[in-house]
Formats: sequence, C-alpha cells, structure tokens
Amino acid sequence: MTAAIYAADAGLSVRLIEKGMYGGQMTTTDRIENYPGFKEIAGWELSQRMFECVTASGVSLTSDNVLSLERSGTNYKVICQKETYEANAVIIANGVARRKLDIPGEKEFAGRGVSYCAVCDGNFFRGRDVAVIGGGNSALEDAAYLGGICNRVFLIHRRDEFRADEKYVRAINSFDNIERVTSHVPVRIVGNETLTGIEVRDLKTDSVRTIPVSGVFAATGLISDNNAFAGIVNVTDEGYIVSDENCVTSAPGVFAAGDTRQKKLRQIVTACADGASAAKRALEYLNGV
Ligand code: NAP
Repeated sequence: MTAAIYAADAGLSVRLIEKGMYGGQMTTTDRIENYPGFKEIAGWELSQRMFECVTASGVSLTSDNVLSLERSGTNYKVICQKETYEANAVIIANGVARRKLDIPGEKEFAGRGVSYCAVCDGNFFRGRDVAVIGGGNSALEDAAYLGGICNRVFLIHRRDEFRADEKYVRAINSFDNIERVTSHVPVRIVGNETLTGIEVRDLKTDSVRTIPVSGVFAATGLISDNNAFAGIVNVTDEGYIVSDENCVTSAPGVFAAGDTRQKKLRQIVTACADGASAAKRALEYLNGV
C-alpha cells in the first residue's frame, strides 16, 4: 500500500493487485505496538487507515491472484487468475506465507478446527480448549489473545525456551489458563467429524499422548511465496527475492518491497520503508535515470 501511495503521488498510473485483504498480515494481528505514531493500534485499524490513503491517492484497485510475471518487450505482463495486465514497471510486495505443520490431519481439518490466524478464527473457539503451536512472537501473541477468550490454551513448542521477545513471554505468564507444553512436537491432528485433539510427542521421553482440544492454531513461522516470480527475478535458496536496499531486483523494472525480499528485519515499518524506496526507484527507472 505504501508503494502504491508513493507511486501514485509521484504522478504514475498505479494498479494495486491484491488477492486477499488489504493489509495482509497486519489484518491478522490483534494489536500492533511497534508502529511509530501509535502507542497501540488494532491490526485491522492500521490496515484501514493505510487503505484510506491508498484510495485518496487515486490508485486503481484490482482483486485478483497473480499467477506469473512475464517479460513483454521492455514491459511486463502480470498474469492473474481473472485477467492479464501490462505494466512498464512492477513492484512485488506480496509478503510471505504461513508455514504449514505438515502432519496427518492438518489438510483434512484446515478451516474445520485447524487455523493459521488466531485473530480471524479465535472467536469460533470461545470458551473451549485449544492448542497453539510455535514459540515465536506470533505463537505467544496468539496464545495470549486466545487465553483471553478460550477456556484453556496449550502452547506446544519444540524447545524449552521461547524465541519470542521477553514482553510476549511476560504476557503469557499473566494467564492462568495457558499451559506450556514444551519440548513437544505435534504428530497428528485427531478427530472424525470434528477435530477432537492433537497428538504430541515428548522429545525427552519419546512418549506420545493426545491433548483433547477443539482447535489447533499453527504459528510456526513464515515462508516465502514467490513461485509466481521465480523465473523473472533471482531468489535466495529460501525463495526470498534478492534485491538491494533500494528494492532493485535482478530484472530491470521489477522491484521488491517488504517481507518478500531478502532482509533481516521483517516488520510493518521496514515494509513501509521499502514501499517508499521501491516506488521512488521505479519512478527513476521510468524516467530513464
Ligand atoms: P518465527 O519467529 O520464525 O517462529 C516460528 C516458531 O515456530 C519457532 O518457535 C519455531 O521453533 C517453531 N517451528 C517452526 N517450524 C516448526 C515445526 N515444523 N514444528 C514445530 N514448531 C516449529 O515466526 P513468527 O512467530 O511467525 O514470527 C515471524 C516474524 O514476524 C518474526 O520476525 C517476528 O519477530 C515477527 N513478528 C513480530 C511481531 C511484533 O513485533 N509485534 C509479532 C508477530 C511476529 P524454534 O524456536 O525451535 O525454531
């Protein structure tokens, strides 16, 4: 959204293609406490405020799923599910995807008990017992959110220590109903018509047991989602787009902004900064600079 705003404000004709919700991961975050200017703001609200700036800048909005990017002379064809668009320059700001658990039962119960977004789906499990998988900021943030609305939350993590920031560890410690299940890995999602539990293996004893829950929230990290662009731009072994700090990629006229590119710090503020840099470089590219 920042790239679109900067490019439109610079006088370019901009089409913003989005397959889901404007704001992406922001919309699935309960509270954001590290975006300057706001002590605390709901993820949906920050997304909405940015979106209002997008519409005010006169950006064309398109709801579609980008399948691939192809060269067309000096231009690019952006091939989407519904239509194909031609552009003189392209800014890729598609973020990242959620890592799956990759265990039996996950696919069968996806959307029927297995969720990748506590803020989106937590309410369906109000007053019930749920499990959260992971030990990073997302997992602990999800556990704290669910701790406030669910009966019991089992926080299942494969190590004894969490990788999450201290403030998230402090937050979960304040809940009596969050039970840590550390040094355990998920083995299988259990259920027939509905999800009834999660089978976990104790890494210290190798014993396996089933924890009865109605919902499983996977928060095991993020992975790149760049298959659509891999033939056009260079990507790292992990699939992140290689670019310099001005968001310039290996393909002339293609820029990469935010979590999708190889970088150390993936935050909203760094994604916004990339968006501004990418738009500025795209403008210079189009002006032959
Ligand atoms: P993450 O930091 O990569 O954490 C993923 C967690 O899942 C790790 O604890 C990892 O265990 C565990 N895990 C990975 N694969 C697993 C598997 N197959 N089975 C079981 N456990 C598995 O991911 P994240 O929490 O989604 O955060 C992603 C990025 O977003 C981070 O940079 C984070 O700081 C940022 N973020 C920031 C905020 C904020 O600042 N407010 C909030 C949320 C996220 P190990 O620890 O053993 O590797």
